[in-house]
Amino acid sequence: MKITALAGGVGGAKLAHGLSQILPPDQFTIIVNTGDDFEHLGLYISPDLDTVCYTLAGLANPLTGWGRKDESWHAFNEMEKLAGQTWFRLGDRDLGTHLVRTERRKHGEKLSTITQNFCRAWGIEHTILPMTDDPVYTMVATKEMGELAFQEYFVHQRCEPSVTGFRFDGIEKALPAPGVLEAIDQADALVFCPSNPWVSIDPILAVAGVRSACATKPVVAVSPIIGGDVVKGPAAKMYRELGIQPSAYAVAKHYENLLQGFVVDTVDAELQASIEAMNISTLVTNTIMEDELGRLRLAKDVIDFVNSLIK
Ligand code: GDP
Repeated sequence: MKITALAGGVGGAKLAHGLSQILPPDQFTIIVNTGDDFEHLGLYISPDLDTVCYTLAGLANPLTGWGRKDESWHAFNEMEKLAGQTWFRLGDRDLGTHLVRTERRKHGEKLSTITQNFCRAWGIEHTILPMTDDPVYTMVATKEMGELAFQEYFVHQRCEPSVTGFRFDGIEKALPAPGVLEAIDQADALVFCPSNPWVSIDPILAVAGVRSACATKPVVAVSPIIGGDVVKGPAAKMYRELGIQPSAYAVAKHYENLLQGFVVDTVDAELQASIEAMNISTLVTNTIMEDELGRLRLAKDVIDFVNSLIK
């Protein structure tokens, strides 16, 4: 069975890692959000792509879920001493990635080609695709500070301003990266990882042709909201500020027309009936991926669920 997953950073990477442990490289592809990408200190940084790649390569920092394990901070500490911009933390190993990618992009190479080369260098056999090679920047409209670039909102302002909406700058001109539509077309089913629906999955769906391609396939999503709150990040806060009560139900409703199946946590079992009333099959299981075994356990549950739906 071939599965293609849509993923953001931390939550997405964990399930993608679990799935990659079960499905061989020719049966599993990951399409990653690049709306979080930005330029900082002259470097092109692609946080979600890096998180997914580092995680699949076994190079991710297990404590944060992002950045590199065994990281050192010499460059960053010097930047601090020199009163440089330090609101976005960049470790020494991580800097190596950004330096090479920035240089290669300057010479006109595509993000998808660079990613493919990096994956090979890191020993990743599965295909990891950026959603697009074109510039798309997620912009967050806020009550207090007007429109903010995503990392300005997410990291610099620590998600504190109240959100009133989102815009994906550049999306009208963005084409899917090579392989993206093929990976969707060739899949038996799609999995929306437990990523932030607003700023991780929606930007991918907004790339030309992606939503309509997804609509032709069985789609299973895993809720990033458990017991009305997130494991990490601003998704629940965003739902609240947009006037929607955060819940697994709200996530299912968010993707409603695309979904054939939805995975909710056992603590949300009572939401099953209301989700199934939208004509969406549900799987109730433990969706917290506290360690690698947890990723594997949820990935297996998702694969069994997908199999039961497409039979
Ligand atoms: P980001 O781009 O780094 O914010 O990463 P994502 O959008 O991929 O993931 C953020 C979402 O992952 C948050 O809404 C979290 O609630 C969710 N998340 C993180 N860890 C887990 C987990 O173990 N299980 C589930 N179900 N969701 C998780």
